[in-house]
Amino acid sequence: AKQTGAFVNFDMEQHSFKDTTLRIFREILSETEYRDWPHVGIAIQAYLRDTEADLIQLRDWAKNERRCPVWVRLVKGAYWDYETVIAAQNDWPVPVWTKKWESDANFEKLSAFLLQNVDWLVPAFGSHNIRSIAHAMALAESLGVPRRRFEFQMLYGMADPIKEAIQSLGYRVRIYTPYGQLLPGMAYLVRRLLENSSNDSFLRQGFSEGLSEEVLLMNPTQVSAVRIQDSGLKAHPWQRVGAQPLQFKNDPPTNFAIEANRTAMHEALALVRTQLGTLYRPIVNNKPLAVSKMQASVNPSKHSEVLGEFALATIEDANAAVAAAQAAFPAWRDAPIEERAGLLQRVAQQFRKRRFELCAWIVLETGKPWREADGDVAEAIDFCDYYAVEGLKLQGEPQHRDVPGEDNLYFYEPRGVAVVIAPWNFPLAILTGMTAAALVTGNTAIMKPAEQSTLVAAKLMECFLAAGAPPGVVNFLPGLGEEIGPTLVNHPDVAVIAFTGSLKVGLSINQQASHTAGGANLVKRVIAEMGGKNAIIVDTDADLDEAVKGTVESAFGYAGQKCSAGSRAIVLDGIFDQFLARLVEATRSLTVAPADHPGASLGPVIDRESQDRIHRFIEKGKTEARLVYRADLGPLANEGFFVGPTIFADVPENSSIAQEEIFGPVLAVIRAKDLDDAIRIANGTKYALTGGVFSRSPEHLALVKKRFRVGNLYINRKCTGALVDRQPFGGFKLSGIGSKAGGPDYLLQFVLPRTITENQMRRGFAPES
Ligand code: NAD
Repeated sequence: AKQTGAFVNFDMEQHSFKDTTLRIFREILSETEYRDWPHVGIAIQAYLRDTEADLIQLRDWAKNERRCPVWVRLVKGAYWDYETVIAAQNDWPVPVWTKKWESDANFEKLSAFLLQNVDWLVPAFGSHNIRSIAHAMALAESLGVPRRRFEFQMLYGMADPIKEAIQSLGYRVRIYTPYGQLLPGMAYLVRRLLENSSNDSFLRQGFSEGLSEEVLLMNPTQVSAVRIQDSGLKAHPWQRVGAQPLQFKNDPPTNFAIEANRTAMHEALALVRTQLGTLYRPIVNNKPLAVSKMQASVNPSKHSEVLGEFALATIEDANAAVAAAQAAFPAWRDAPIEERAGLLQRVAQQFRKRRFELCAWIVLETGKPWREADGDVAEAIDFCDYYAVEGLKLQGEPQHRDVPGEDNLYFYEPRGVAVVIAPWNFPLAILTGMTAAALVTGNTAIMKPAEQSTLVAAKLMECFLAAGAPPGVVNFLPGLGEEIGPTLVNHPDVAVIAFTGSLKVGLSINQQASHTAGGANLVKRVIAEMGGKNAIIVDTDADLDEAVKGTVESAFGYAGQKCSAGSRAIVLDGIFDQFLARLVEATRSLTVAPADHPGASLGPVIDRESQDRIHRFIEKGKTEARLVYRADLGPLANEGFFVGPTIFADVPENSSIAQEEIFGPVLAVIRAKDLDDAIRIANGTKYALTGGVFSRSPEHLALVKKRFRVGNLYINRKCTGALVDRQPFGGFKLSGIGSKAGGPDYLLQFVLPRTITENQMRRGFAPES
């Protein structure tokens, strides 16, 4: 471009990319090769609250470091809806001005800044708003800026009379238009046309709403008063929902687009790396037990890095833990619900305080990339807060069904000792969730974490202790599932088993727990959340950009090691080839890297055993279907337990890679004749956990809602990432027995309902109450 003399402008997209885009822009244009290149610029969005600071920084850089000007294309910004919705969904501060006139006013303020700094930032005003344009012209004139020192930029096919008017006044106008491939170009043009004719835009107000010239040309800060009353603009539905007082609120995810958060995460990783090598012991009655056998925990991204050691609890330790939990049970059962809910809230406080540190442990021990590790901590916080609120609702007040002369009480009591057996893939959230539910309802608990994530679980135990859990109420029992599992499951004093993990172990626990041998005087309650073989249906009219992105995230997020992962893409014949080609390209763009690397799209799988199992499936897949993509890992292959994202196409619906849970980054793409066929294939497994559908047809969506039978169905989005309360989570068929975690029925599984009826009649009189 430099040689041809073309002008190159860097575009600006979502707010989350802004700082990185600006940095890349500055870095490239500081290179010797481009330092003195004048025909280059960047788009700057006036609808962002922090734009003024960005412009000051850009000016200082151009003036003092680059010493050569750059262009600034000043626009209002094209992602207003997106930015406000994303902020609301994540409970983040809204990065944009929320009223249109505020963006207009900011545009004028920034126009002034640019015109005052034309030596370093050459302005290109990208607006169709006559007031904004006229303001820039008038200001340029009063500052004596020559007309060739700035320009106006307008969209092809829009507001031609305005273009002609500006040109006839002797100003420079640049028309821009998409160029290249038809589809992406049209999509771009349509998006811009829509945005320029949105409800609040100048063009729409002027041409179709017929607002007077006085109002249209008014100073935006004054317009506010006039427009707000008569615009009749409706709030977004989420704004109305947000205004309701909700008791529970999801904890916002950390926004790693903010530099301070990235710094905090780097520091936490460094801090945790100074704490490696500790031995974590079982904790019973709030005291560590003696250790006879131990095992090391290694970083799956780099197996030479030993993170620490943990004790392998013995059968005696398991019995001691049950005895401690049993002894602590009566007092904990009788403690007021407020006290039990209070413990959960204090644990959540510990999580908040140690958020980055916990994230760092998760990244290092389980190979989760930053954002997913943060989601794990956020979900753990949510489970504590949510079950505290739900516990208060359930056990706060007994329900009365009284009639004259007869009092009827209905209330819930805890069951007893709960054994919590957790998987490694949500090392903090799932263990916390099951334990918190048991505790808040008044059960005492024994936490048996997965071997692969014991250090994270030990951190959870530290949080319980710091939050003041009474002795015996929650006990920590690291160890091998096969060794201590049966003792815990079969123990006559254990009343509840809350398990999340594989189908095989879940079914065997369910079977063992059904025996009431050994002097047991209760039938154990088993809650078992198990595997999935989740499908995403891609309809012929799906928005392919969204479908590809959603499928890639569902299939390869955390290297496919989520029970909710989309491991089958069922694609309708009409769109199959097109979808597959784009899916492969999108997958190729993923970065496989050690999980502590901030740019990792996916890290390693959990351990050697998993890696071997996934490799065996891939070999099997080659005999069953067509391998269309497998990422080359390079030197990473020898450093950690990495498996590159892998895609098979034309996979027969009953082949093993289409039926078995692989639990790795392997996606089976299956061809379906039509939607009926797709739904039939989607339902054709032993699991029913999550599912996804990408379609724009209302009839098709109505049909899948009815007939695609899974616990959690997601439409036009990824099928992972359920949030507590918003998307209560869990499946049926062989995906689980139990009510949804993070939902209103979950706690009921940990309690026994009781009824007490008291006759209040005394010889024909009912005493006054
Ligand atoms: P896993 O079944 O191997 O282990 C789960 C837990 O069970 C571990 O703590 C393990 O030590 C313990 N265990 C193993 N053998 C035992 C025995 N004989 N008795 C008692 N406990 C025993 O599963 P995993 O590899 O840790 O986790 C992955 C599996 O979990 C996948 O199948 C995934 O789909 C499932 N999962 C399901 C959900 C859900 O909500 N449905 C959520 C996360 C993970």
